[in-house]
Amino acid sequence: MREIEAQVRVCRLCKLSRTRTNAVPGEGDYRAEVMFIGEGPGYHEDRQGRPFVGNAGDFLNELLEIAGLSRPSVFITNVVKCRPPNNRDPEPDEIGACSGYLDRQIALINPRIIVTLGRFSMARFFPGERISQIHGMARVIDGRMCVAMYHPAAGLHQASLADIIRSDFRKLPLFIEQARKMLTQAVQADDGQPAADGGDVQALATDEPLKTSDTAETEEIVQAPEAAQTKRSKREKSDSDYKQLNFFDL
Ligand code: SF4
Repeated sequence: MREIEAQVRVCRLCKLSRTRTNAVPGEGDYRAEVMFIGEGPGYHEDRQGRPFVGNAGDFLNELLEIAGLSRPSVFITNVVKCRPPNNRDPEPDEIGACSGYLDRQIALINPRIIVTLGRFSMARFFPGERISQIHGMARVIDGRMCVAMYHPAAGLHQASLADIIRSDFRKLPLFIEQARKMLTQAVQADDGQPAADGGDVQALATDEPLKTSDTAETEEIVQAPEAAQTKRSKREKSDSDYKQLNFFDL
């Protein structure tokens, strides 16, 4: 990880290197269970060389607290490590040039849960989806749970979104618990043991009918069990277009 960080700090792979003050590799626990991936550094991040240290960072800290997570216990980074001028959107060539660093960070940390913050990191794990439709929902990809969240800055610019974002972060402990259970069950399956609760690794809670992905490596979009329980009666009827799953038993 330190080698990646050193490479990022002197990287010249894309044009953002010409306008940055400091590259921002990311920070946190190299063995984090939960990894947050935002869009790119802003003004304050560029000045300090650290992710999420401005107003959006303050809001992220509040959100982490809501989720019962301490900032040092998670890892936080972005899809591009250098600030786009005037906070413009990162461009495809910049995201592509920087993706190798993120790939290596994910491989080394190997988090149980990846939380995408905003549409640019969402696009990497949820291609073709809209943040307004899948925020607060998760997809299991190669045995790892990926949760789509709005970018904290969206809550600062649009007050009505702030409470929605807080509500989505309240679900994170449930997703973490599910991810831990999935891992336990996968280990037991490898050892030839029956699952401790007799459940199925795929038996995750769903609010709306399951949205099946058309990509091979992705498996499903799920919502936290709490929300699912409250709307359970709404989906009593079977729907042949969707796969019906058992509820996750907390
Ligand atoms: S954004 Fe990424 S690829 Fe571009 S210069 Fe910075 S570290 Fe290198």
